[in-house]
Amino acid sequence: MAVMSITEVKKKIQGFPRADLIPLPTPLQKMENLSRALGGPDVYIKRDDLTGLAFGGNKSRKLEFIIQDALDKKADVVITWAALQSNWCLQTAAAARKFGIKPLLILFKMYELPEEYDGNLLLDYILDADVRIREDEAGKVLKMEDVAEIIEEVENEVKEGGNTPYVAPIGGSMKGGSMDKPLGAISYVNAFAETLEQAQEQGFKIGSILHATGSGGTQAGLAVGAKALSEDTRILGISVSDDKASFGKEVLTIAQDTIEALGLNIEIKEDDIIIFDEYIKEGYGVLNKEVSDAVRFLSLKEGIFLDPVYTGKAMAALMDLIKKGYFKRDDSIVFLHTGGTPALFPNKRKLVDFLKPKD
Ligand SMILES: *Cc1c(COP(=O)(O)O)cnc(C)c1O
Repeated sequence: MAVMSITEVKKKIQGFPRADLIPLPTPLQKMENLSRALGGPDVYIKRDDLTGLAFGGNKSRKLEFIIQDALDKKADVVITWAALQSNWCLQTAAAARKFGIKPLLILFKMYELPEEYDGNLLLDYILDADVRIREDEAGKVLKMEDVAEIIEEVENEVKEGGNTPYVAPIGGSMKGGSMDKPLGAISYVNAFAETLEQAQEQGFKIGSILHATGSGGTQAGLAVGAKALSEDTRILGISVSDDKASFGKEVLTIAQDTIEALGLNIEIKEDDIIIFDEYIKEGYGVLNKEVSDAVRFLSLKEGIFLDPVYTGKAMAALMDLIKKGYFKRDDSIVFLHTGGTPALFPNKRKLVDFLKPKD
């Protein structure tokens, strides 16, 4: 059931200016081999790993809106933060460079990855981002309030140097810093509309969209899109870091802010935010056997690579849920590939360890 039409929703989104950063739509492809091998519902893949900016990923959609906001606010330095091997930080740095803005990244060492130039950190280096590395023990996605002091310090430093900073919150999801609207989530309302149009053209109904959820913007945007355009479509977020009780509240808040920002006449409730937290296992960014196997499985079946922190976990979850009979056989599932593949490389030791044959 649709409360609104795709045209109406797109019109609301057009009210937000955006920089031209990526070619859209990204492909929506049926995974014939994978579907057959798993013996459950039809599984499609939405290729947001193919956004074409700095190896691709969901953050590029968000950044079309966020970089435009920074430009409108006359910023010449963008400040953000996340984990050492963050996809968000890399994508932000690349998008900023394209529009003549200098990236300043505060990267937290949250898990046992070497501080060597590999994966995203190497790409940050090539982009000549101003990188500040800090220690963090929490092993969680760091929220605005966790980093307020450091951000203020860096913001003042930039201002004293005669520049104009734009503080973009981690993941580009929640409002905060210089971002007064949930711009990242708005880009995923658009992604939902785009995917729905493609599914209609290809002649199938989307039962569920399953994806890795980290800072919540992607899930919030998709959930709002589903609420407005296709109430029967379930959005399944596979958490990679936080438990579902606390995380669900955050996603709901972002979703409500998104509805308000877009001026939609719909209401979203706790039940609309479906999160699985049982696949976090050892914690954020910690690779395990199931994830390594899922990364290999998709590469063998479809020749597509996943990442070890987000999409690998989401695929491990999808495989497990199909095995447990969570979906109906005649269901159609869209697996959203959110990118992140450069993180394969700094995880090479563990990956090879988990994948090599045991003697
Ligand atoms: C950031 C990220 C996610 C999570 O998206 P959020 O909007 O932060 O929840 C998923 N997959 C990859 C590869 C990411 O980089």
